[in-house]
Amino acid sequence: MRAQFLPFSAPTIEDAEINEVVDSLKSGWITTGPKVKRFEEEFKAYVGADFAVPLSSATAGQHLIMLALKIGSGDEVITTPMTFASTVSTIVLAGATPLLVDIEPGTLNMDVTRIREKITPRTRAIVPVHFAGQPCDLDPIFALAREFGLAVIEDAAHAVGTEYKGKRIGSSAGVSIFSFHPNKNITTGEGGMLCTPDEELAEQISLLKFHGMNREAWKRFAASGTPGYDIILPGFKYNMMDIQAALGIHQLPRLDGFIRRRTEIAGFYNREFSDVAELALPAMAPYEQRHAWHLYTPLVRTELLTIDRDQFMAELKELNIGSGLHYKAIHHHAWYREQLPVPAGTLPNADYASERILSLPLFPKMTDEDAADVVAAVKDVIAHNRK
Ligand SMILES: *Cc1c(COP(=O)(O)O)cnc(C)c1O
Repeated sequence: MRAQFLPFSAPTIEDAEINEVVDSLKSGWITTGPKVKRFEEEFKAYVGADFAVPLSSATAGQHLIMLALKIGSGDEVITTPMTFASTVSTIVLAGATPLLVDIEPGTLNMDVTRIREKITPRTRAIVPVHFAGQPCDLDPIFALAREFGLAVIEDAAHAVGTEYKGKRIGSSAGVSIFSFHPNKNITTGEGGMLCTPDEELAEQISLLKFHGMNREAWKRFAASGTPGYDIILPGFKYNMMDIQAALGIHQLPRLDGFIRRRTEIAGFYNREFSDVAELALPAMAPYEQRHAWHLYTPLVRTELLTIDRDQFMAELKELNIGSGLHYKAIHHHAWYREQLPVPAGTLPNADYASERILSLPLFPKMTDEDAADVVAAVKDVIAHNRK
């Protein structure tokens, strides 16, 4: 057994990030300023977006897009149950009704063949989640969106660097919202970015994210700016700080290297687990893509074991191997069970995955030895708990 606990995720922070944050602190400019502008420009260029709005989190972007598109009471939004809470809670908080589409059993992405049957005259948007960093099949999603006049709001929290048919996530005709939480593929501590080809929408999000103020504070205080401002609409306080962007501008150039290392480790896991019947390994979608390997999420086939998934995770922990849970399906959480119950058996693939999924350690700093320790521990737990 390994001597030191291996977490399921850890950010790679180097001297460049540390020195850049120190530079911000010493400069006297801590909040939104030139480094946020630079990160916005560089991120926009990397993903190939026309407009990008830096934010305090992806959740902030998910909240603001509902307001900007005036999605609210009486409206329906189609999304996946296999996601983080904010994807669905921001729909609920807007006053709209989330309609959950079941997932594909292999990729765990939203099953695009099941979307059409959910569309009603009240439907306003489709919110696909690029699960674990593997792109959803966007062509049929956009075809449905055009046919029915719906918005597409991509939850791209896992998909920094993901590509679909040769194009980066963030460059589509819809809205894409990225997260830079420390577990994600690049981090700014907390932070998010909303990308869109729609200039007016980007402007609206920019206003909503900062008090509805018609010019940003850092321009007001700049030598060339004027101190006056006007409140055009009531807005929030969802801006990114320079000390956050200080991390991002050094993380972004290393992203492709991070993804290469993540892909290597995922490939190693796939090979080592290929003959383990007790695990259902993540499947690759058949279309051309680059998987960003944000997560490595096998399903533990508990029907072949004497323990459940939670016990499996506990036994891994006893062997000093951390694991994550992405995700317990949203309709299994208390509020949704009580307030928005889904008829039993209508989301069978999500139900199956929700009870069996776990995230094994996957981050760029992991050594080959760390990955081998994970494989040994997983095989050990299986060997001790076979039916
Ligand atoms: C992390 C995550 C979010 C929320 O991102 P924050 O930046 O933490 O607000 C939303 N959706 C998914 C799928 C995520 O993994």
